[in-house]
Amino acid sequence: MFTFAKVYLHGFSYFALTMCGIVGYLGGQQAYPILIKGLHRLEYRGYDSAGVSVINAQGQLNVYKSPGKVSVLEEKCSSQDISGTIGIAHTRWATHGEPNTVNAHPHLSESGDISLVHNGIIENYKTLRSELERRGMHFCGDTDTEVLVQLIENVKQKYDVPLADAVRMALNYVVGAYAIAVIEKSNPRSMVCARKGSPLVIGVGQQTGEFYVGSDATPIIEYTNRVVYLEDEEVAEMDADGSLRITSLKNVEKTPEMTTLEMSLDELEKGGYPHFMLKEIWEQPNALSVCMKGRVHSGLKDVFLSGVIDHRERFINARRIIICACGTSWHSALLGKYFMEEAVQIPVEVEYASEFRYRNPVIFPDDIVIAVSQSGETADTLAAIELAKEHGAFVYGICNVIGSSIARATNSGTYLHVGPEIGVASTKAFTGQVLTLCMLGLAIAKEKKSLSKEMYEMLVDEIQCIPEKMRWTLEHNKDIEQIARTFTYARNFIFLGRGYNYPVALEGALKLKEISYIHAEGYPAAEMKHGPIALVDEEMPVVFIATKRGNYEKIVSNIQEIKSRKGRIMSVVTEGDVTVRELSDYCFVIPDTRDCFVPMLAIIPLQLFSYYVAVAKGRNVDQPRNLAKSVTVE
Ligand code: GLU
Repeated sequence: MFTFAKVYLHGFSYFALTMCGIVGYLGGQQAYPILIKGLHRLEYRGYDSAGVSVINAQGQLNVYKSPGKVSVLEEKCSSQDISGTIGIAHTRWATHGEPNTVNAHPHLSESGDISLVHNGIIENYKTLRSELERRGMHFCGDTDTEVLVQLIENVKQKYDVPLADAVRMALNYVVGAYAIAVIEKSNPRSMVCARKGSPLVIGVGQQTGEFYVGSDATPIIEYTNRVVYLEDEEVAEMDADGSLRITSLKNVEKTPEMTTLEMSLDELEKGGYPHFMLKEIWEQPNALSVCMKGRVHSGLKDVFLSGVIDHRERFINARRIIICACGTSWHSALLGKYFMEEAVQIPVEVEYASEFRYRNPVIFPDDIVIAVSQSGETADTLAAIELAKEHGAFVYGICNVIGSSIARATNSGTYLHVGPEIGVASTKAFTGQVLTLCMLGLAIAKEKKSLSKEMYEMLVDEIQCIPEKMRWTLEHNKDIEQIARTFTYARNFIFLGRGYNYPVALEGALKLKEISYIHAEGYPAAEMKHGPIALVDEEMPVVFIATKRGNYEKIVSNIQEIKSRKGRIMSVVTEGDVTVRELSDYCFVIPDTRDCFVPMLAIIPLQLFSYYVAVAKGRNVDQPRNLAKSVTVE
């Protein structure tokens, strides 16, 4: 994959993208049901407020908005007649201005003729707003977005041009990032969209003159798999007569490049599970099998990654690998480092993308920089890629969302292919990233001949058993729900592990924080004595990842140290373990595997534990407070 990875996104620094959801519809059907359904599908991107604008047959442009979730908007709209076959909608993750009704999108121009939704940040909004106010325009809210719609109206009136021209002209004054969809009361047969730095996808419907718009493909896939991904500084004009015109901001026409989506609707639904997170935890065995498909070959005992094969020399001659990531992806990156240093025998550094991009790092042209991000839109990781490219390093992307900005900005890469991840707390993308980094390590080791044939083949054999062993893990930990309830009132947690299990401790703690809002820290188990042990008393639950092999004896001593201080101990152990089991109050069991692959199994009980604690506490598991799925702001 990453066949279009060679498209570079020149000249844009990814400093200010945001994460809301945009939906648009133009065609022969009623727009509102399509828009509201689309908003529900996109709600994981932000849920501060929601709104919709529709133009009805009488030519009225109606706007409904409300703070809070899409369901609140839906409730508000249930008593209204929202007919019309063209409309735009938005779910907001506020950056400028409180999440109240006035600041919710869509925004209206002063005359009420133009309505607009926006994802991103207009950095020079203050200057633009003062200028527009000087010209006599009035503003009602505090968002940067309102400036855009007013500016478009101002330009349109001043130059008496069609909407698309006004959008193009207005955007030339704008500094910042945007994906926008705009409609106009006097022309209910067309919609204008544009993007710079924030993704926007246009779906071309089955019927002539039918178009869908989304900030990603999730609201579109139900209706069509023919899509066009807008590029930076492109403007799209869709018309009910069926025409789709794409131009640059300078009005140079481009041929729309149609892509066929391969995602299915089933992948976006909960499929009988109460939450996406639980569904995605259970999907892991299948998701990881798909991730390995065509890449790990059982008969040949071999791993093939075209992203490596196509650039063999770069990998063979690399002096060093730097992995840049954020959040959960940073944890998988750390595991990638542990494995690659063992298998490839070259130095691997792991960086928080947000630190890397600002601290003037040393980057050599023969470095390989690997960017890891589920969404492929993480702003800091994108900026890290730009920096690495400026220094001439070869950049390899690992992301899940097909066609995402990272997939397009990198020289080469591997998609996770674990299917859409909707739950805000990452689960299957984490294990998919760990698997992908292991496959990458094996693929590079093969080229560099840094592993013996026996060791290489043994690892290739074992990696293929992981999906089955994940299934076993899911089946053999049915009591987690019960155990989780016992810990609902705990205020703090410590997670400890050594070696490959240390990043698992970090990830286990992060899951618990994210969705249950319980304070949790992950530590290398031996570091405990240098501080955190002071926190331990009979109220402190301590979770050990204490699997066989590796540093087993050492971690047993660490468990004893906690036990003698009366901490409550929960442990992830290997099937058949006796020693740790005797020392622990509760145990989660996983099958045996090589140390390097243990994290993909050991994290499963911890994901389930966090999930059930959060459910028992009545938290909104799929949409935890203050978080959004793809962190496209720096
Ligand atoms: N900056 C805009 C606002 O705060 C857009 C935010 C978003 O992308 O949701 O309203």
